[in-house]
Amino acid sequence: MPKFVTVAVPCPLRRGFDYLWPDTLQQEAKVGMRVSVPFGPRRLVGVIFATPTNSDIAKQKMKSVIKALDESPCLPPDLIQLGLWAAAYYHHPVGECFQQLLPITLRKAEPAKEKPAQYWQCSDDITNLPPLPSRAHQQQSLLAVIEQSGRLSRRQIKDLGYSNTVLNNLINGGYLSKAEAPLAAATSTPSTKLSLNTEQDHAVKAISKALGGFDRFLLDGVTGSGKTEVYLRAIEDCLGRGEQTLVLIPEIGLTPQTLQRFEQRFPTNVSTLHSGLSDSERVQNWKKIQSGEHKILLGTRSAVLTPFHKLGLIIVDEEHDASYKQQDGWRYSARDIAVKRGSDHCCPVVLGSATPSLDSLHNVALGRYQLLELRERAGGANAPKVHLLDIRNETLDAGLGKSLLDATAQTLNEGNQALIFLNRRGFSPQLQCHSCGWLANCQACDATLTVHFGRRELRCHHCGATETLPTICPQCHNHELIFQGPGTERLELSLKQHFPDVPIIRIDRDTTSAKGSMQLLIDDIHTGKPCILVGTQMLAKGHHFPDVTLVGIIDIDGGLFSADFRGPERSGQLLIQVAGRAGRANKPGKVYIQSHCPDHPALQALVNQGYQPFAQQLLAERKLFSLPPVSFSAVIRADAVSLESAEAFLSQIINALPTGDTAWSIVGPLPAPMARKAGRFRAALILQSERRSLLHQHLHAACEIGDQLRKPQNLRWSVDVDPIDL
Ligand code: ADP
Ligand code: ZN
Ligand code: ZN
Repeated sequence: MPKFVTVAVPCPLRRGFDYLWPDTLQQEAKVGMRVSVPFGPRRLVGVIFATPTNSDIAKQKMKSVIKALDESPCLPPDLIQLGLWAAAYYHHPVGECFQQLLPITLRKAEPAKEKPAQYWQCSDDITNLPPLPSRAHQQQSLLAVIEQSGRLSRRQIKDLGYSNTVLNNLINGGYLSKAEAPLAAATSTPSTKLSLNTEQDHAVKAISKALGGFDRFLLDGVTGSGKTEVYLRAIEDCLGRGEQTLVLIPEIGLTPQTLQRFEQRFPTNVSTLHSGLSDSERVQNWKKIQSGEHKILLGTRSAVLTPFHKLGLIIVDEEHDASYKQQDGWRYSARDIAVKRGSDHCCPVVLGSATPSLDSLHNVALGRYQLLELRERAGGANAPKVHLLDIRNETLDAGLGKSLLDATAQTLNEGNQALIFLNRRGFSPQLQCHSCGWLANCQACDATLTVHFGRRELRCHHCGATETLPTICPQCHNHELIFQGPGTERLELSLKQHFPDVPIIRIDRDTTSAKGSMQLLIDDIHTGKPCILVGTQMLAKGHHFPDVTLVGIIDIDGGLFSADFRGPERSGQLLIQVAGRAGRANKPGKVYIQSHCPDHPALQALVNQGYQPFAQQLLAERKLFSLPPVSFSAVIRADAVSLESAEAFLSQIINALPTGDTAWSIVGPLPAPMARKAGRFRAALILQSERRSLLHQHLHAACEIGDQLRKPQNLRWSVDVDPIDL
């Protein structure tokens, strides 16, 4: 029986801790078990990742494990290996990595007992009850929703925006009856299979042939080309081998349709993992995948960390999406970990996108990834026609030019829907005094405050600070305050004035913050009535709106020509994704792009030749300047109460590192693009090399130096490997 265990304890130190395994514990210590251990004055839950036969720590100083929390290992060996690999690769404290491998419920020694969810359905004898009073609008509306969906939990009902009182009134009136479980998905009819076109067929065959071994594919398919259908077929073949599939998607809340398509095709076999679930639902689904009871896991970023019984296929949909990269704490890339897991489990990995990342295109060029192309839209839909509109010297109304307004009117007259895209929420990004030039700035950030007119508020989109919307200039007391530039809220208002009889559906973080509200808006769009959709990039993601025939893009210049070398890639992807919402079914689509620089070569390439040539051009530039993905990079960030102390800390790291080797470089300290955020000052070092191993060697050294340095009070620092921004 092992006497010692090495435990990953959730703390910011980059190592594991040895503990004694006391004889009083009944179980045998095993790697993968959770334990409760003393840590300073606290008790923490950690995971055993080694059972060494001896330890360097003097026996009298060594503490004992307090309690074993599992009978048998909670994490299987492959996940232990993944955690250790990730801690080393991302230079992140091992205990914090392991903590994220566990569902939240399992991170506590005594998991809080959650009551099983209670569901409500329309009661059987509803026809014998008196009808609801005509003024009980909320009750009528909720009853209709429950009738339509079959069964809903109290939580779901709350998420849809109904109060407890409304629900309780219906229950007390006898209109609803209790149910223990949601309606079994099996009652829905499996969707009929489509017959694949040649390119889809080729893609499915290539993936299916690869099952059973490690292989990497880039499924590059234009928007609406039927990538999902390819995934579904490949999954069927994987199921046929008795193996499981992991499907990663960027955000479930935004694309409930995707989830429905999977559940319809595989009614009894899909588990989901995403932020919309309660902790107990998450741990249940996690266990169903680990035990092999469910064969398909559909989830967002963190789902890539789930243990599988027998993983046979991994799919990463919209692989270019930035949400796959965790942007705080352990900054892992779920897409990259997906590829790593494919290699660990010896199974194929399919990365799919209409706008592949330059990383993946580079891997195709190097011959590491096999390219599968879908160049045509599926089911007879045609690619939309793209028009570039020169708006120089044009009078704009909340950003809208005349041509776009005319095209919108025509679209509505034809009985179709128009989508107007502006990637900026709120009423206006700046409030300025017309008399003295005063600008409403955030007190805590180097940023202007955004006007939210409906709420009579100024809000900082970086730190969340809010102020009441002033009516006079605080500097010169003039009354004439002007709104500089439009946001979606203003766009909505202005469209209402132009089209008073047409519903305007705005989709951005402000209109969808309540859970379930996105689904209601989407349902509204799917009624097919002529309407105008206004929104931010939330509208770009994977939606299939069959009646949208016009897409208008108001302002894309900013991102395309930004200073960050990743700006053009990101904006180009966004533009193509938004444009891809037009004409996806049997009605032809049009895209109108307004620009102040219609002759710019990048924009021209994107519009006239499409995403691939545009991306290849960007990739050639990255090669020329040896930028990622051609080279590898990492960022060390520090933030403190002054810019000087953040920079001084980083300078000490630089000074302690060796110099003179031209095969790697370190630049900085540089102030972050927004140096002051939420009252803290931020600076960074950028490490770069064409050799990954060299980068990691120096990064490792930098971390050791940073760990040993005396830090000014309140300084925080972190490492970001393969960053996606500065
Ligand atoms: P993507 O994920 O590439 O954007 P989807 O998978 O959403 O595209 O497919 C777009 C539309 O085309 C969907 O409505 C889908 O049902 C349809 N579709 C896909 N493949 C076929 C096919 N082989 N025949 C007919 N329709 C198809
Ligand atoms: Zn003023
Ligand atoms: Zn702020």
